[in-house]
Amino acid sequence: MDVSANSLTARRLTRQIAVGSVKVGGDAPISVQSMTTTKTADVEGTLEQIYALAANGADIVRCTCNEQAAAEGLAQIVPRSPVPIVADIHFHVEMALAALEAGVNGLRLNPGNLRKPEEIKLVASEAKDRGVPIRIGVNAGSLHPDIYEKFGGATPEALVESARIELAYFEEVDFHDVKISVKASSVATMIGAYRLASATFDHPLHLGVTEAGPLPGGLLKGTAGIATLLAEGIGDTLRYSLTADPVEEARAGRQLLESLGLRERKGLDLIACPSCGRAEVDVIKIANEAQAALSELNLPIQVAVMGCVVNGPGEARHADLGIAAGKKRGHLFIQGQIVRVVPEDEMVAALVDEAKKIAAEGVEARLRAKDAGAEAEAAADRALLLDDKGLDANHASERIERIRHRAEH
Ligand code: SF4
Repeated sequence: MDVSANSLTARRLTRQIAVGSVKVGGDAPISVQSMTTTKTADVEGTLEQIYALAANGADIVRCTCNEQAAAEGLAQIVPRSPVPIVADIHFHVEMALAALEAGVNGLRLNPGNLRKPEEIKLVASEAKDRGVPIRIGVNAGSLHPDIYEKFGGATPEALVESARIELAYFEEVDFHDVKISVKASSVATMIGAYRLASATFDHPLHLGVTEAGPLPGGLLKGTAGIATLLAEGIGDTLRYSLTADPVEEARAGRQLLESLGLRERKGLDLIACPSCGRAEVDVIKIANEAQAALSELNLPIQVAVMGCVVNGPGEARHADLGIAAGKKRGHLFIQGQIVRVVPEDEMVAALVDEAKKIAAEGVEARLRAKDAGAEAEAAADRALLLDDKGLDANHASERIERIRHRAEH
C-alpha cells in the first residue's frame, strides 16, 4: 500500500522564500537539491552535470564558488542552467560578493568559517539589495570553536545556537530571506538539531545528513535522518550528501519524496517481490533488466515484477502494470487483471511494450484490448503450480487422515 502524505504528521508551516523560480517553505513542494562535483570554472562540464542533475530530480543545484575563476564561471552558468543555482561559500567574503555579482539565485554561508560579523552583515545587505536568499548552512564538523567549547561538542543545541547567532546578524541589517540547515554526520545529532531548529525558527529548513559516505550506507544514513524528519512534518528542501555521482543524490531525494507521497511521481516506480522458494524465475535479474529498460522510457508508471503467479498478481494489484512468472511463462497484468500470457524470455520486452501502450492509449483502453483467453490460461498455470508447490506437496489429505486416526484411538 502506498503511504500517503496524509499518514504523515502535518507539515510544519514555515515562511516562504524564493530561490530563483523555486519556492522553498510554506506550502511549496519540498524541493530536491544536489551539488556539482566539477570545477565551477569549467562551464561546459558543470552545465552538463547540472542538466543531468535536473533530469534526475534536482530542483536546485549548488556549485562551489571558491575562487575568482569559479565566480566568472557562475556568471556564464546561471543564465544557461535549467534550475536555480546556489553558490557555496566558505571562508572568503569576496567570493560571496563575487557570486552575487555573477547573478546566482542563492548563497550558502557556513557560519563556522565566515566569522567576522561585519563581513556577514555586508553579504546579507548585498543579498537583500539583489533579492537573493541565503542559507545559513551550519555543519557539525566546522562549528565555531567558541560554540563547540561552550556546549561541550557539536550537540543539537550548539548547531542551533550557531544558526541563531548568524540569523541575529542578518536581522541587524533587516535581511530575512533565509533558510537554515543544521547538518551533522551523526544521524541522531542531526535529527535532534532539526527538531530543535524547527521549534526555534520559522524559516524554511534544508535537511541533510552531511558526509553520509558511499552507497549503500550513505543512502541509508541520509534516509534515516531525512525521512524521520519529513514524517514529523519537518523540512522544506533536502539534499543527500553521498560520496557518489551526484546524480544519485538527485535520484534519491526525488525517490524519497515520491515514496512518502510528498511529490507526484515523475518517473518509473519499479516494485518487485523479494523472491522466495516459490519463484519461477531469477527475480533479481528480471527486475534489474526491467528497471534498466523501463527507466529509459521516463514514464510516471508503477511496474511490478513478481516471482510467481500464485501470489504475484494479487499482491501487486495496485501497480499500473506487472508481470508474474509461472511455468516458463509470464503473466502480464494491468491493475491486477491478466491481459496476456507471454513466453518467459519475452517478459521484459512485454513489459516495455505494454508500458508504452499504456502511456499512449491509457489503462482502460489496454484493459479492453486484453487477450480473451489470458485469464483462463493464467488460472491453469496457477493451478499447476499449486499442485506442484501448494498444499498437495505436503500430502495434506494423508496427513489429515493420520491426525484424525490418532484422535480416534
Ligand atoms: S510473489 Fe511469489 S516468488 Fe515472489 S515472494 Fe511472493 S510468493 Fe515468493
